[in-house]
Amino acid sequence: MKLARTGWVCESGCAVGLRRVGLMRGCGGVIPGKRTRRPQVGIDTSGQLGLFGEPAPPQCKPQGGVERALRFVEADASRIMLGGVRLDEHLQAMSIGWPFTVARLLGEQDWAPFLAKLSPNGRPPYAPWAMVGLVVAGILKGVNTLRALEELARSDLAVMWVTGGICPDHSVIGRFLLLHAETLSDSFFAGLTASVLKATGSDTAMLGLDGTVIAAAVARLGTLKAEALAAALAEAEAKAAEAKAAAEASETDREKAETAAAKAAAQVEKLAGAQAVLNERIAARTDKGKDAKGLSIHPDEPEAVVQPQKDKRTYAPSYKPVVLANRARVVVAGDVHPSCETAPVERLVEAALAHGQVGSLLADSGFNGAGTIEVAAKHDIELLAPEGRTLPGETATYKQSDKQIPKGEFSYEAASDSYRCPAGHSLRRLGACSQYTVYGGAPCVACPMRARCTRGAEGRQIKRYPCDAAKEAMRATLADPAGRARYNKRAGMVEPVFAHLKENQGLRRFRRRGLAKVRLELMLHLAAYNLSRAVVALARASGALFGGLLAAALRCLAAARSALRTHLRRILTALVSPNPGAAHV
Ligand code: SF4
Repeated sequence: MKLARTGWVCESGCAVGLRRVGLMRGCGGVIPGKRTRRPQVGIDTSGQLGLFGEPAPPQCKPQGGVERALRFVEADASRIMLGGVRLDEHLQAMSIGWPFTVARLLGEQDWAPFLAKLSPNGRPPYAPWAMVGLVVAGILKGVNTLRALEELARSDLAVMWVTGGICPDHSVIGRFLLLHAETLSDSFFAGLTASVLKATGSDTAMLGLDGTVIAAAVARLGTLKAEALAAALAEAEAKAAEAKAAAEASETDREKAETAAAKAAAQVEKLAGAQAVLNERIAARTDKGKDAKGLSIHPDEPEAVVQPQKDKRTYAPSYKPVVLANRARVVVAGDVHPSCETAPVERLVEAALAHGQVGSLLADSGFNGAGTIEVAAKHDIELLAPEGRTLPGETATYKQSDKQIPKGEFSYEAASDSYRCPAGHSLRRLGACSQYTVYGGAPCVACPMRARCTRGAEGRQIKRYPCDAAKEAMRATLADPAGRARYNKRAGMVEPVFAHLKENQGLRRFRRRGLAKVRLELMLHLAAYNLSRAVVALARASGALFGGLLAAALRCLAAARSALRTHLRRILTALVSPNPGAAHV
């Protein structure tokens, strides 16, 4: 590339017109090492107000605490006009209130971590609160792709109030999200959740815990089992060796051959990485004594685990998000794991404790395990998680499988350190290892319940784990109607969260690849969801306030009418009375 009289000229001789302000179009070739800079666009808000001395409308920028040494792309929602009407007045006239709540709550956040990553030199960036506002407002409207966000910023008036009228390019939005991925996933979500808890007037005393499964951004038909993956890797290695030899031997068009060799090497690296991950999963499964023959992996998304979906019939590469929600259905903590719902529980509980004391944790039977019980005990939280499903009209819970009489129907007797079986026989302690104690020795041979209880020659044996005492306490609490009624609140607290994420926000499939980006995507969805809870709560509160004022006004009117009627009655009585003194009762 060289500088000519008319501008920069690339190696192929095309005038690309690279000027001080950016790269102008004119060459279809690739310019290594040069990044295209797109023009930054915003709604022109200059000079539209101030002619008639109007009072300043409410701002959607952070109130104080913002480092002013940084300059941002000019954007001010309060100066956007629709003809002669200000944007906020137009939105209020249309009864569109959510952008004001969203802008206000975003304005309360601490933007210092975002600003720390920006440089005061160079062209001014878009303000982080405007960019985050665009993303969460887009999610609230069910818009998830970067290109759709780009269009939304230019076309949606409500979104313009949140963003101040910026019009970033889709690539700029993508780079912003990647640059601030960690902040958005952690400190920003925590700060926004604190604001939403305050706005909704809710707390963390009782939390519902639940997880779901959401498909990864790859097709399930592209998954490979170990043998197929090994064959694909061998083939890719052969192609890479061939491409490398061709690149070394090439004299003409060497650059093209080198690009092909680099691509082939990247394919080998990708398949080798996927094979390493799959081998780890096979080893882990084999260590647990389970069959690992059916395990497969998608080379483009190795961190996603091929697992059953919600319908229990199809298998697809997917992730498992887990959330903690309170009684106002505000998500106080969220996380995602490739395959295990219980693994993030400790992190979630710690994040929830940062917002206040947690009294009870209500979870489904998937969390009735040692890990969750230990976390609850460590933080002195009451855990209510049944052992299995609850049949309609019953309070007892049952294991999904009814092939065997469940362990829950055997009662432990601490005084004699033994179990009592459903037939009334005692199972004494037979031995112990580091993980559990074994009980057995009942006269099972002649028992009429044997067919449903055991097929072992030694009769039924029960293993007692350290967490079984907590499980028995939970069982007793859930058998009590008051405890069961408390537990029944769980479904209404946390199940609608995933329904909202999937139905209203379109999170039926992640759009980004890799666990870190999937986590970012989930946390952005949860942040948007929490904002929607604040919008609903504040709208209800203002409705209740209006209703209260109306009721008070009606009460005043009724009292005035009653007083007027009384006075009129007295006056009339005095007029018709023969005794004039009766008028002064
Ligand atoms: S099979 Fe054995 S453990 Fe089971 S109910 Fe009968 S006696 Fe009790």
